[in-house]
Amino acid sequence: MSKCKGYAALEARAPLGPYSFERREPRERDIVIDIKYCGVCHSDIHQTRDEWSKYQEESIFPMVPGHEIAGIVEAVGNKVTKYKVGDKVGVGCFVDSCRTCSECRQGLEQYCTVATIWTYNGRDKEGQPTYGGYSDKIVVDENYALRMPENLPLDACAPLLCAGITLYSPLKHWNAGLGKKVAIIGLGGLGHMGVKLAHALGAEVTVLSQSLKKQADGKRLGADHFYATSDPETFTNLASYFDLIVNTVSAQIDWNEYLKLLKTDGAMVIVGLPEKDIPLGAFSLTARRRSVAGSQIGGIRETQEMLDFCAKHGVACDIEVMPIQKINEAYERVLKSDVRYRFVIDMASLEK
Ligand code: NAP
Ligand code: ZN
Ligand code: ZN
Repeated sequence: MSKCKGYAALEARAPLGPYSFERREPRERDIVIDIKYCGVCHSDIHQTRDEWSKYQEESIFPMVPGHEIAGIVEAVGNKVTKYKVGDKVGVGCFVDSCRTCSECRQGLEQYCTVATIWTYNGRDKEGQPTYGGYSDKIVVDENYALRMPENLPLDACAPLLCAGITLYSPLKHWNAGLGKKVAIIGLGGLGHMGVKLAHALGAEVTVLSQSLKKQADGKRLGADHFYATSDPETFTNLASYFDLIVNTVSAQIDWNEYLKLLKTDGAMVIVGLPEKDIPLGAFSLTARRRSVAGSQIGGIRETQEMLDFCAKHGVACDIEVMPIQKINEAYERVLKSDVRYRFVIDMASLEK
């Protein structure tokens, strides 16, 4: 075992503070990553506050969050073939899966029917808790690491590993592209990547935000249109307009109101994961053969495809880099929708 330093919530809803813990010695196919940056996802807040307890078996405390991990390979096991010391690599939301079920064989490890092993707040195959990227190092099997873009800054690419892939996967699956009208609800970490990626894929992009405060940013990120959902006219003006709506909102909103904005055969894909369930009316769907669906991050193969797409199109995240000592403040700002558009922890600050 090797000693690691990080930040953890010692119990549900506790503020995060310095924490020491151990990681396994690297095995023959493991790489050891010196973590340089880690993005702050709203899921980190939901989980450290135990807001998903109803949907998962357990929440494990102390919890070291972080699943937008970018760093440099520091050591490799003797059977590692994909990476060498010095490579720029990343780790997203999971670090292993069964590798044999039909989902794993299709590269859909995030839907593994046996067990996806989450990067933190999960248990590894030996039953030990997993610890995430708000820390100095991580040990991971080479098959569950990603190669980061060479031509883009590492800090601005860290959030691609969750926010980026969580939007890229449904945009691709529901064919966002030329001639398609796509709406993104919520201009936060996920939402701003939805705008950039849908735009890069060639779709017409509309942001549906609570107010017009972020309008100039939305346009700069690639949105063609920007509407405030606080204005009831938005819902009359845009009735039956979209082919695809991706809903990134972390809180309860009335899905039925947004479903009315879909044209015939349109789909609303839920990626936001609010604590409480939201009622869905049958008429919202039957009216125009609309669908509502969900999507969860993306598999390793698709995540690499997304990173390569971002490298090719020069797409990275808009970030605010901060020292880890400011993490609790950052959480408060995310909760107030006051993030432009992802906080990224500079892990060098752990030494302070
Ligand atoms: P975020 O940065 O906080 O963005 C969420 C955005 O939703 C906010 O910026 C805000 O946008 C909007 N919003 C917040 N509260 C709202 C309210 N009460 N009413 C209407 N709109 C509201 O969070 P994130 O990191 O992007 O994550 C978003 C959600 O996705 C979280 O629930 C997270 O757990 C989940 N998630 C899911 C997956 C997956 O695989 N499915 C992966 C990662 C994260 P405006 O200011 O523009 O209104
Ligand atoms: Zn995330
Ligand atoms: Zn599996």
